[in-house]
Amino acid sequence: MDEQDPLASFRERFFIPKTKEGSKAIYFCGNSLGLQPRATALTIQQELKDWKNLGVEGHFHGSNPWFEYHKFLKPGLVELTGASDPSEVTPMGSLTTNLHLMMVSFYRPTQHRYKIIMESGAFPSDQYAIESQCRFHGLDPAQAIVELTPEPGKYYLETSRIIRSIEENSEQLALVLLSGVQYYSGQFFEIEPITRMGHDAGAYVGWDLAHAIGNVPLSLHQHQVDFAAWCSYKYLNSGPGGTAGIFVHKKHENEPDIPRFGGWWGYPETERFEMKKGFIPAKGADGWQVSNANILSMAAQKASLEIFLEAGITRIRDKSLLLTGYLEFLLNDLSHGLDKFKMITPDNPQNRGAQLSLLFNQEGSAIFRELTNSGIVVDWREPNIIRMAPAPLYNTFEEVYGFCQVLKTLIE
Ligand SMILES: *Cc1c(COP(=O)(O)O)cnc(C)c1O
Repeated sequence: MDEQDPLASFRERFFIPKTKEGSKAIYFCGNSLGLQPRATALTIQQELKDWKNLGVEGHFHGSNPWFEYHKFLKPGLVELTGASDPSEVTPMGSLTTNLHLMMVSFYRPTQHRYKIIMESGAFPSDQYAIESQCRFHGLDPAQAIVELTPEPGKYYLETSRIIRSIEENSEQLALVLLSGVQYYSGQFFEIEPITRMGHDAGAYVGWDLAHAIGNVPLSLHQHQVDFAAWCSYKYLNSGPGGTAGIFVHKKHENEPDIPRFGGWWGYPETERFEMKKGFIPAKGADGWQVSNANILSMAAQKASLEIFLEAGITRIRDKSLLLTGYLEFLLNDLSHGLDKFKMITPDNPQNRGAQLSLLFNQEGSAIFRELTNSGIVVDWREPNIIRMAPAPLYNTFEEVYGFCQVLKTLIE
């Protein structure tokens, strides 16, 4: 499979972390922090050079003028989000901050419509953001937030369960805010029908794509998603704490009166330096920008997005389905009759991305420790979960096989 893999050569474009013994680690943690492309240092170096040689002139006369640096990232973001054109996306800020900015615009509770549907056990930052937004509006989170829990005996949310909740709460529903790919279970939500049902109920629908972008193909424009936000350091390989991004659907591009927290970088570009009184938002997603861009971080993202554009998300997904499918096949094989762990990720490949999550019966933490000692990087989530995510741009079928051999020995 590695020999036949059309994306095989992309592995050479990344630095693979080393084990204590100096050999290459098996790195299945790209869902948490993606690996560094070899091109990243050069791309950052270029901006350091312009800063060194040009000083403030770098804003307009650098080789990649900083004033419009965010535009260099847009083609990659369009490819990965399924935006209709660059005006629907913009790289900016950080994920949780962007979720707040998006909720300022798209969660505007009224006396009768104030509820938010989210998944129970959402990533803590999302829980805190949503909870504090409710309080900001003077609402009791316990009243305003509807948390979806899986059916008894299930570990992920059936689409029918989500749709039922939307229907049950339709009179009071203001917003549906779910993750595209769930960080714990690895479930890839069905964005299209859920968004449609949310709209039918009269609510806005937004998605946290932290674990989805660069992992699964997205069609945010076509699926009429109101807004989305993501970070860039997971599957996007843009470095720890890297610049995040937002999508705002075109249908909202000409709504200057939509409430938002403004800043000078959201002001129309051509008149920004006239420094006039009175905030006017730029058209499209750019109108939500607040501060001038973190160029060194965006340079890292630029290097990474060029790789995504070259590989294409369709080919990445094709390989991912095979790679994760192979992992599942081997795990099923080795768990057979042993009852040591259970996979909590959906077994339908269409309902998951690269990640599989295993719930261990016992000794999970000891197995995790030994995997780490064997030079395998996966991650551990309380109470008893090991998550592993073979990333199609730099992981191989042979690594999946090697990982399962080690796991088999440990379990036996
Ligand atoms: C990784 C992740 C975050 C992290 O938020 P930051 O603001 O980047 O620290 C938030 N939400 C989800 C769902 C995540 O997976």
